[in-house]
Amino acid sequence: MHEASIALSLTDVACDVLRENGGTRVTALTVRVGEWSSVVPEALRAAFPAAAAGTPLASARLNIITVLGVGECPEHGPVTLELSKGLRCPICDLPTPKLLEGDELELDELEIAPSARTS
Ligand SMILES: [Zn+2]
Repeated sequence: MHEASIALSLTDVACDVLRENGGTRVTALTVRVGEWSSVVPEALRAAFPAAAAGTPLASARLNIITVLGVGECPEHGPVTLELSKGLRCPICDLPTPKLLEGDELELDELEIAPSARTS
């Protein structure tokens, strides 16, 4: 169940960004999860509330963007991979050992609640 620790580190990163921006509360965050990463989006979603509890993200909405795998075929250049086929070009079946995209797990966007300024 490593999604729990991933949810925690995402929460950490989001809190840092929030502080850098001088915000107090996050209303939504968007996370990019590669289809080829070992992260299960549903599990991450399930783990998030516990990780965010007691932080400025406690009531934030979690959006997950699934990033498809892109490999580099020697013949066709970058091609979108199919999980069921493994690291092979879906057109010509040549191995595409290099994964260009699709194994990431990163914070994409943070929606920060407008802070009530009293000046
Ligand atoms: Zn190919």
